[in-house]
Amino acid sequence: MSRRSTDYPLVIVGAGAAGNGASEQATLLDIDHVVLEASHRMGGRGLTEYLEGGIPIDLGCHWMHSATLNPYVAIADACGFEYLRIDHYDYAMHFHGAWLDRTQRSRYENYQQESFDRILASYKEFPGHSIMEALDHDSEWFPYACYWWSLMHSNDVDQISVQDFADYNDTSEDWPLRNGYGALIARQFETVPLSLNCAVSSIDWSRSPVRIETARGVLRAGKVIVTVSNGVLASGDIRFFPSLPETTLTAIDSLPLGNSNYQFFSMDPAFLDADTPENIHYLDGESSMAIRIRPFGTPCLFTSTGGRFAWWLERQGQSASRAYFEEALVKIFGAGIRKSLREFRCSAWGYDPWIRGAYSSQLPGHEDMRQRLSEPLNECLYLAGEATSPDFFNTAHGAYLAGKDAVTRAFGHEVR
Ligand SMILES: Cc1cc2nc3c(=O)[nH]c(=O)nc-3n(C[C@H](O)[C@H](O)[C@H](O)COP(=O)(O)OP(=O)(O)OC[C@H]3O[C@@H](n4cnc5c(N)ncnc54)[C@H](O)[C@@H]3O)c2cc1C
Repeated sequence: MSRRSTDYPLVIVGAGAAGNGASEQATLLDIDHVVLEASHRMGGRGLTEYLEGGIPIDLGCHWMHSATLNPYVAIADACGFEYLRIDHYDYAMHFHGAWLDRTQRSRYENYQQESFDRILASYKEFPGHSIMEALDHDSEWFPYACYWWSLMHSNDVDQISVQDFADYNDTSEDWPLRNGYGALIARQFETVPLSLNCAVSSIDWSRSPVRIETARGVLRAGKVIVTVSNGVLASGDIRFFPSLPETTLTAIDSLPLGNSNYQFFSMDPAFLDADTPENIHYLDGESSMAIRIRPFGTPCLFTSTGGRFAWWLERQGQSASRAYFEEALVKIFGAGIRKSLREFRCSAWGYDPWIRGAYSSQLPGHEDMRQRLSEPLNECLYLAGEATSPDFFNTAHGAYLAGKDAVTRAFGHEVR
C-alpha cells in the first residue's frame, strides 16, 4: 500500500465475489477505492485448481445458479468463458448395492417435490421451523434427501430455517463453467486496485473517517464495506470499535457457516465406457454421495460432502477423504476401478483461516436475519458478503450483487 494515513472514499475488505461486485460498482460510480485481501490470492470461496493434464477443478463455487438471473453469465460471455446451458441433469441412482429403475427414481422425484411443498406450507404457518420439522422422516428417501439439503445449505436439516428455502430464488438453471467459476472471479480482479496479504485486524467505525488497521499499515476511509464470511466475523479475528451492535451480532450468530467440501479423482479415461451415467446418486449405509462423472468430457470425477459430516471428514485429513470416495466408487463400479484412479484432490474450507466454513444458513427460530445483517452501521460500515443476500445467499452471484448493492446504498445511488 503506497498511501499512508489517507484516505480513500471507500475501502473494501475481501477479494471474493462480493468484493468483486463492490469494486465494479465503485468503478462504475467513479469512486476511488482499494480492496484489501488477507490471503495471497483473489477469489475467496471461488477457487479453481488443476489436476494433472491441466484439468480445471472448482474447489468452491462451480455452477452459475439461477443462470438467467445471474450476472456472472454476462461476465463469462464477455471474458470468453465457456459454460453448459443446462436446466436438467440426467442421473442414475445406486442405492444399497443396486441400480434403481425408472419407477423408483420417479418416486424419489415425487418425494422431493412433496418436500418442497411441505416446506413452503410450513413457512406460512411456522416461519421459525427447521427444514427437518417440515420433512417426512418416515420416507425411504429421507436419508438421501438429508444429504442433498446439506449440500445446498452446508448445514444439516435441523440447522436450516424453512425461510432459507422459501426466500431463495431458484430458477433450476445450474450452468457449470468449463474453465472454472473460481478462475472467472479471480479474472475480475486483474484490473482492480488490490492489496493482497493485507489482513485487516481492526476497524474503528466510531467516526468518519473509519480507521482500518491492516497487516501493512493503517488506512482511513470515508466508508468501508466488509465482505468477509460470517465464519470470519464470528471468530472475532477482526476487532470492531465500538463493538458491533447486539442486533448485528445476533444476525451473525444466527447465520453460521456450515461446511461443504469437494473430492476429485483424475482417472484413466479408458476405464469408463460411453454408457456410464454422467451423474450418480449413491446411498449405502450411512454414506450418501452425488457423483459427477467426466465433467466437460474430462477424465475426472468428483463428489462433495456437506454439514456435520463434512466438518468431521475434513478433520480426518486427505487420505480419509480419499478412502471414503474410493470405497463408494468400488461399490458402484467394482474393485477394478482402483487401479484406474490417479490424482486425488479435495477442498478443506473449514480449515481455511480466511473463510472458516462453506456458506451460511439461517438457524431455525430466527427470521429476516440476512436483512438485519446488511443494515448500514453509522452510515460508514456495511457488511456485504454472501450471507447478506436476500434471495441468492449461498452463491457467488448473490455475493456479487450484495457487494454492488452495498456500494449503491453507501453512496446514495439507485439499487440494482
Ligand atoms: C464447496 C463450495 C461449493 C460452492 N458451490 C457454489 C456454486 O456451485 N455456485 C455458487 O454460486 N456458489 C457456490 N458456493 C458459494 C460461493 O462460493 C460463495 O457464496 C461466494 O463465493 C462467497 O463470496 P463472498 O465474497 O461473500 O465471500 P468470500 O469468497 O469468502 O470472500 C471474502 C474474502 O475475504 C477475505 N478475508 C477474510 N478475512 C479477511 C481479513 N481479516 N482481512 C482481509 N480479507 C479477509 C477472504 O480471504 C476472502 O477472499 C460454494 C461454496 C463452497 C465452499
